[in-house]
Amino acid sequence: MTAGGNTSCFPSIRQSKGCCWKAGLYGRIDCIRTEKGRKIPFEYKRGRSRVMPDGTSEAWPSDTLQAIAYAVLLEERLGSAVNEARIHYGADRKTVTIKVDTAMRRTLKRALERARELRRSTRRPPIAENERLCARCSLAPVCLPEEERFAEQPERPPIRLFPEKHETWDMHVVEAGSTIRRSGDSLVVENQEGNKQSYPIRQIHSVTLHGPVQMSTQTLHLCSEQGISIHWITGGGKYIGSLMRAAGGVQRRMRQYGGLVNEELALLLSARLVAAKIEMQLRYMLRLSRGNERRNAMSSHLQMMRNMLKYVGKSRTRQEMLGLEGNAARAYFACIAICTEHRMSEGLAFTHRSRRPPKDPFNALLSFLYSLLYRDCVQAIVTVGLDPTIGFYHQPRSGAYPLALDLMELFRVPLADMVAVGSVNRMQWSVEKDFEQAGPRFWLNPSGKKKAIKLYESRKQDVWKHPVIGYSLSYARLMELEVRLLEKEWSGKPGLFALNKIR
Ligand code: SF4
Repeated sequence: MTAGGNTSCFPSIRQSKGCCWKAGLYGRIDCIRTEKGRKIPFEYKRGRSRVMPDGTSEAWPSDTLQAIAYAVLLEERLGSAVNEARIHYGADRKTVTIKVDTAMRRTLKRALERARELRRSTRRPPIAENERLCARCSLAPVCLPEEERFAEQPERPPIRLFPEKHETWDMHVVEAGSTIRRSGDSLVVENQEGNKQSYPIRQIHSVTLHGPVQMSTQTLHLCSEQGISIHWITGGGKYIGSLMRAAGGVQRRMRQYGGLVNEELALLLSARLVAAKIEMQLRYMLRLSRGNERRNAMSSHLQMMRNMLKYVGKSRTRQEMLGLEGNAARAYFACIAICTEHRMSEGLAFTHRSRRPPKDPFNALLSFLYSLLYRDCVQAIVTVGLDPTIGFYHQPRSGAYPLALDLMELFRVPLADMVAVGSVNRMQWSVEKDFEQAGPRFWLNPSGKKKAIKLYESRKQDVWKHPVIGYSLSYARLMELEVRLLEKEWSGKPGLFALNKIR
């Protein structure tokens, strides 16, 4: 940041990676001015200053602490006393002077000690009692204070502090032989014919490489620096792995391990998850058969789902829940077969679920959509800072992450099943143009993949009103919100995870 007049920047500090105080404090000062031989650290804020009852302007407490810390850092670097710091608030153009005296230094010391104590602790601190602090706190989308208050007072709908949508988009490269390289702050995708397309990095949330697509080391570095996740999916549509920057520290994971080894909590969460899944399946099928002749054909399967839903709350073991979920799933897929049987002549009807390998086009489509969903669930979990290898319902069996499989259960119906059934019934698919077959195995060709990705990504952007929390958000954001609510089950206020009956 630059400033005119009598400002002189202090290159040795501004251009360094930051200052380090002997107390273990690091920082980067916005600007340093020289007035009558004294150096004064300046901090620039975009917002407004704090207006006191007598009409004077003051700095906010957290800004004051930051300014004192900068003064102390500068003092150490200069080897001479710095007794003043200033904060300029851009919105109301006020500059507030902070006197760096003994009392202020003591306040800073106490705050640092408390911060270290919290960092060492495996317990999350309680949310602020003063709600107004949260409205302007940058941690609100992570901390979810409003949702915690809602858990205590359900009659009081929370104010939205969690963003409705991502402002960036998920990029997919599906053409075999394409390369992705860096050009400045953009990604350039070039296909085998030499056609190039450039995408500014700031617009990208993640990159998914389908099949034999190459990415240069420089591009990997850029994506990693910018926190952009990279995912690999095979040409056949199977998720392979990801490169993601994990958030949070070891304390968060220790809290997760501590929470999920508690068998009682794991069973409670499993029951809530299985109930939410069966209820979503049931609601979807009731909606698809409302007012038409399919209802009669489905009636025994619908009744089976209702029964399974009733028993979930009474089951005492994970095995019982797996059995109930399996019965409900068989009934649900039997209903899907009834809903798509009129597509039999086009080869897109569904008869039964076949996974490895998918034995018909519908199963190939469904498996591909589940791979995309699994990728998003892994990303949401890692973004929040949890460990996907420890779940509560799914057990570690294959290479798949149990927690990602757990989270997927909440989103299979709205993000994969509805997309598959809806697009098949709208006749958006052609077996010849969109699928390939080798022996008994089917998979989507590049044209089919592009179509499925478009449908899936567009569905993820649909905005949906959360019936429990009461505000709307896209499915893409909802995945992250659910992971953050899950974390509150063992650190914070429990009772909000998997309550969304997504339609
Ligand atoms: S959002 Fe969280 S961290 Fe920020 S003030 Fe509120 S309770 Fe504190």
